[in-house]
Amino acid sequence: MYNNAKELLKECMEKNLPISEVVINDEIDSTAATREEIVSRMKNVLDVMKKSISDMEAKETMGGIIGGEAQKLDDYVKSKKTICGGSINRAMIRALAAAQHNASMGRICAAPTAGSSGIIPASIVTGAEELECDEDVIIRGLLTASGIGKIIIQNATVSGAEGGCQAECGSAAAMAAAGLVEMAGGTPKMSLTAAAIALKNVMGLICDPIAGLVESPCSKRNSSGAVNAMTSAELALSGITSVVDFDETVEAMYSVGRMMHPNLRETALGGIAVTETGIELSKKVHGEN
Ligand code: SF4
Repeated sequence: MYNNAKELLKECMEKNLPISEVVINDEIDSTAATREEIVSRMKNVLDVMKKSISDMEAKETMGGIIGGEAQKLDDYVKSKKTICGGSINRAMIRALAAAQHNASMGRICAAPTAGSSGIIPASIVTGAEELECDEDVIIRGLLTASGIGKIIIQNATVSGAEGGCQAECGSAAAMAAAGLVEMAGGTPKMSLTAAAIALKNVMGLICDPIAGLVESPCSKRNSSGAVNAMTSAELALSGITSVVDFDETVEAMYSVGRMMHPNLRETALGGIAVTETGIELSKKVHGEN
């Protein structure tokens, strides 16, 4: 059992296990599920994730605020030399697709939340392509990501209403970054470093959805969250360390979340939601009052 990153790392080091294996053992102990059941459930999760990131068709979303972004970026990438190149663009396309899929009531895996549900699948599937990983390795990446999510939930929050978007999109990026590191053959310490870097990159990010709907700015925060995960993983894999460790970073994120004014925590009363455009769109969705 582990309650924080220090305990997780200690268990990995003492037993010479990757994070994914410690997560499996913890799940067996706490739920009495078998290893096969845990892996099989994660395969189902991966299936749902893969479908959500490949749905590029422009659909009507709940508020009609977003739509067609993934297809637009895909068309652009296919027709021009791009700044970001192959893997970054593919991850952004996938994250945008999942965000639209979620906003149009498609089936997603809330990892850790519906609003941030494009970040883990987009970065993990794209990373797997680049690293040429098979499905078993991808499942290991997802298990590692879930271990990081458990630590954040136990010690802070993954809810935008409680901790701002840093807690949703930041946690998703941290989870994905740790998973990507394990998929690339990095150490447990590197996974935790990547998670700390990803979370720090968006420390203080508020939750300000226009009209209170998970569309804008959420969709683009999914694409930047996927890129955050990939760059954080790459930094950690190169041997770059995090000055502040993951446990302290989680504590800081939670403390920042608690300091955030309620207007900046999913109430649609601050930030982008109350710009002139945000208010206009909100009136269109909900009416004048
Ligand atoms: S802005 Fe709020 S609702 Fe949108 S993804 Fe971030 S936390 Fe979720």
